[in-house]
Amino acid sequence: MKKYIFVTGGVCSSLGKGIAAASIGTLLESRGFRVSMIKIDPYLNVDAGTMSPYQHGEVYVTDDGAETDLDLGNYARFTSSPLSKAHSITTGQIYQTVINKEREGKYLGKTVQVIPHITDEIKAQILRIGNVPETDITIVEVGGTVGDIESVPFLETARQCIHELGHENVLSVHLTLVPTVSGDEMKTKPTQHSVKELREIGIQPDILLCRAKKELDEGMRKKIANFTNVDVNSVLSAIDVNSTIYEIPLIYHQQKLDEIVLKKLGLELRPAHVEALRDRVEGYKNAKKTVTIAMVGKYVDLHDTYKSIDEALVHAAMGNDVRVKILKIDAEKLEKGAKPEDLLGSADGILVPGGFGERGIEGMIIAARYARESQKPYFGICLGMQIMVIEYARHVLLLEGANSTEFNPQCTDPVVSLLEEQEGVTKMGGTMRLGRSATHTLADTKIRQAYGSEVIWERHRHRYEFDNRYKESLETAGLKISGFTPDGSLVESTEWDGHPWSTGVQFHPEFTSKPTAPQPLFQAFVKAAVK
Ligand code: GLN
Repeated sequence: MKKYIFVTGGVCSSLGKGIAAASIGTLLESRGFRVSMIKIDPYLNVDAGTMSPYQHGEVYVTDDGAETDLDLGNYARFTSSPLSKAHSITTGQIYQTVINKEREGKYLGKTVQVIPHITDEIKAQILRIGNVPETDITIVEVGGTVGDIESVPFLETARQCIHELGHENVLSVHLTLVPTVSGDEMKTKPTQHSVKELREIGIQPDILLCRAKKELDEGMRKKIANFTNVDVNSVLSAIDVNSTIYEIPLIYHQQKLDEIVLKKLGLELRPAHVEALRDRVEGYKNAKKTVTIAMVGKYVDLHDTYKSIDEALVHAAMGNDVRVKILKIDAEKLEKGAKPEDLLGSADGILVPGGFGERGIEGMIIAARYARESQKPYFGICLGMQIMVIEYARHVLLLEGANSTEFNPQCTDPVVSLLEEQEGVTKMGGTMRLGRSATHTLADTKIRQAYGSEVIWERHRHRYEFDNRYKESLETAGLKISGFTPDGSLVESTEWDGHPWSTGVQFHPEFTSKPTAPQPLFQAFVKAAVK
């Protein structure tokens, strides 16, 4: 029998539901179970691809080119769950499917309604993921907060799943907040109310994870248990950590969360192997040296906009036995006249991340030039590679008007431009070059050294490309092309000849990094920065 765990959140948002769900996944995998993760987002956008990073943080891209919520990135970092389009469900996508079916006449004249048609569609999608031979347990994180109007159909689906598949096969884990008031008095009332709301929908939670400043004492847990009908042993503390988020699964493990889940699901208590993760966390906490990376971008005010890059840098730091300090530098400050030495001088390495639109571009070009001339390690991701190309064309080839047609369609030297197939595209959703594809790396390049193999596979999310008309002149001038698409038609990576460590890549290596397996390019970049 396949097992399911629904993870919901109460009281308020941003309690760490994604990390909680992912941590449960880590722990179950550490006991030899095969886990599949699903994120439900109750918004009406069909996917996260058209949303500004300011709205919803980073857009995470899967192998099959889905543009999803950043929580899928947490799943990728914490678990080995397969992740594809089907693992990210939104209200928009469910309605689109149901409406398309209605237009095709598939409902045979019936009145199409939220219950049962919308909930049936949600259920079918969840079961399609869960009911495959490769999966033992499916963890479904329901976005939003219990009580939101938007999440009602999803919670109703969870209720139906519990009812239809049996309580021994479907668990409800609820993450709530136990706030502290007047000094250090902890309050259980918001948790009581949040569970009451969940029970009104017909879901009795099995496990409560109570986010709090410090561990809940026995009395507090008993009180919550009494009011909510949850076993006192299943009321756990989700305390704030200040070291690294990878400690969170270990803290849950100490409280026996995995054991409780397996018992409730009637699954065998296999031994847990969390040693590798524990080593990484301990190593990171005790590392003596700190490496400073300046990330020069445009969305620097919100901390979730470059989530996967931040995390990949931490993984690479773990892999190099150092800690990492990330300086987020607003590129616009550089173009408004701030001196690069003042903003970037203390950095051991400079990274220009992905991005869209014209704002901040000139500042990123200043940062790339500074890295090249001061011989600091430089890592350009997607837009960061395009910046590397524009900077080189302007300052070494002396093509003053070099630019990307994204920022200036009329520029005299479009060293980065649109492929013909992208020219007529006017629809924004899902029309970029998306998903996993192969790159052939050349011998004696930084990228080949990092991966140690000729053919590598990484994910894309961009519209513009290196313009091959400038290939020869740029190469002759010393911008080395280090990787191509298999047919040789598109440039995938670049580096500066004679510079200690530089790489620009047209793809997004940050999406595949894990704490126990740092992504090779990040590992090599941080290593160069340590040097
Ligand atoms: N805006 C650039 C493009 O579309 C880069 C995209 C990115 O960095 N993800 O090609």
